[in-house]
Amino acid sequence: MIIIDGAEGEGGGQIVRNACALSLVTGQPFRITNVRGKRAKPGLMRQHVTAIEAACAIGSATCDGVAVGSREFGFTPGRVTAGDYRFAVGTAGSTGLVLQTVLMPLLLAGAPSRLVLEGGTHNMLAPPFEFIAESFLAVVNRMGPRVSARLVRPGFYPRGGGRIEVDIAPAPLQPIHCRERGPLLGRSAIAMIAGLAPEIAGREIVRARKLLAWPEDAFAVHELPDEFGPGNILLLTAEFANVTEIVSGFGKLGVSAEQVAATAAARMTGYLESDAVAGPYLADQLLLPFALAGGGSFTTVKPSQHSRTAAEIIAMFTGRQWRFEPQESGAHLATLA
Ligand code: AMP
Repeated sequence: MIIIDGAEGEGGGQIVRNACALSLVTGQPFRITNVRGKRAKPGLMRQHVTAIEAACAIGSATCDGVAVGSREFGFTPGRVTAGDYRFAVGTAGSTGLVLQTVLMPLLLAGAPSRLVLEGGTHNMLAPPFEFIAESFLAVVNRMGPRVSARLVRPGFYPRGGGRIEVDIAPAPLQPIHCRERGPLLGRSAIAMIAGLAPEIAGREIVRARKLLAWPEDAFAVHELPDEFGPGNILLLTAEFANVTEIVSGFGKLGVSAEQVAATAAARMTGYLESDAVAGPYLADQLLLPFALAGGGSFTTVKPSQHSRTAAEIIAMFTGRQWRFEPQESGAHLATLA
């Protein structure tokens, strides 16, 4: 039984999701105390309960203590079964984070699976749908499997109601080396808006254009039907031959459209000024598939607390340590010892 202090390192929900995935893949039971101990509202939230229940459903696992607000739970894995599954978070909780929990076990399950995930698709503090489809899954697919995701209906916080569908054609994960971005193929800045004044998205685009010297046709407003709102997100995408980075700015009450754009543009500029393949979010999400492939490497911007914590959880289940070595360029090289 692996005992994890959920207040260590990042102290958030990622510890819960990675532990479930690693437990199903390695067959080792675990117990987490102090669940989400470093968050303002500690304990399991609705979306974590859904993620653990999803892990139980695909992996014939049993658990105890899994309820909203719970600070401690245990998980005993069973056999992972490929198939058609539908999981609804029930609130605007992130569908992408439920996917993070079940994807790796299903990738290694030996037969195709189809997932329908309902909840939020564009949430703060979680990967937006486009990031999952174009950034994260693009790298996973280079490792062998074929995973495709469709956005059927967007769901913004706090309303939710979104739906994504994911087809998973498994294959053994092959180690790959991602050290060069390759040539720049395209850039785009899209302000999505639903059920709010389109002028908000227009202001984000005006500010983003001032801050990013990108071609004029890279910028656009996408107005979604009012019924999907209220919601607003600015997605900045830089597509290279070997990686696509997507930086998001979430519109929220009390933060001006200009501020949303300025924050996102500053993050994208920071990424473009480095030569690292993985930005901070992609890096923490790639550690698990690379570890399950048994090797490979990638360059990243300075490792985040999320990355360091993910590395610690991976080491507990697999005995393999991630190393992050600073490079002359300022990037860090992530390799599995
Ligand atoms: P936690 O805070 O522990 O619940 O983990 C949040 C997860 O969501 C991490 O894997 C982050 O990489 C990911 N994440 C948060 N914000 C973004 C974003 N804007 N784009 C992509 N991934 C994100």
